[in-house]
Amino acid sequence: MPELPEVETIRAGLQRYLPGRTVTAAQVLHPRSVRNHEPGPGHFAALLAGRKIVGTARRGKYLWLPLDSGDALLCHLGMSGQFLLKPAEEPAEKHLRVRLSFADDGPELRFVDQRIFGYLDYAEGGAELPASVAHIARDPLDPLFDDAEYSGRLRRKKTEVKRSLLDQTLISGIGNIYADEALWRSRLHWSHPVAELSEAKVAELLGHVRDVLREAVSQGGTSFDAQYVNVEGEGGYFALVISAYGREGQPCHRCATPIRRDPWMNRSAYSCPTCQPPAR
Ligand SMILES: [Zn+2]
Repeated sequence: MPELPEVETIRAGLQRYLPGRTVTAAQVLHPRSVRNHEPGPGHFAALLAGRKIVGTARRGKYLWLPLDSGDALLCHLGMSGQFLLKPAEEPAEKHLRVRLSFADDGPELRFVDQRIFGYLDYAEGGAELPASVAHIARDPLDPLFDDAEYSGRLRRKKTEVKRSLLDQTLISGIGNIYADEALWRSRLHWSHPVAELSEAKVAELLGHVRDVLREAVSQGGTSFDAQYVNVEGEGGYFALVISAYGREGQPCHRCATPIRRDPWMNRSAYSCPTCQPPAR
């Protein structure tokens, strides 16, 4: 599942190819990929025709393309969504769902999504911030993220620290992989109650979250599954050294204790039993 670093890598790729280009046609090949647009696929396509893309934007895992009308083309990649820029004459991908053609002879934009948990939507007046994204908190790489406000809100919650990192109304863009990694670096057990974290510990955790995300962005995402590729169709390079996620039974990079996997909210939580003991 794409997380913030993957989505940011895709946004940066789109930024190189799209601003200034005018859409001539949008072709919706599967209605479920525009399911949130109630007037339907034909209406969606008609709204996009003739619009110029003026930039690219992201909050957490939401990506949008501001348009010259003040609206935006909004996207969530879901589990398997991909944006690809391909010459129009290249054959369609098996799971191609939406295709945007442009008034120039540059590459077309293809939204490919095998499992169709992702979607595109036309966000009226959404160039600055689409209404459906407004409930999502800023992500920790956003220059306007307010550390003090976050720390205060977090420490008043009755929840566990890993759960809080995945709560998109508190902080956005962190998924399972990067949450486990930041907790390992912070020596915090996933079940630690946030109300018991000191202000200094929250600051330390936030620092590790940012480091992990920045390292992953600089490597172009971690590409844990084959679904994630950048706009040129290449996967990440596995260059980010992962110390927790997916390493059950393998030695901790700090103390050599085998990493433990716990079932957690229908998923898994990975931690080092020695470096990250549960709070008592
Ligand atoms: Zn350890």
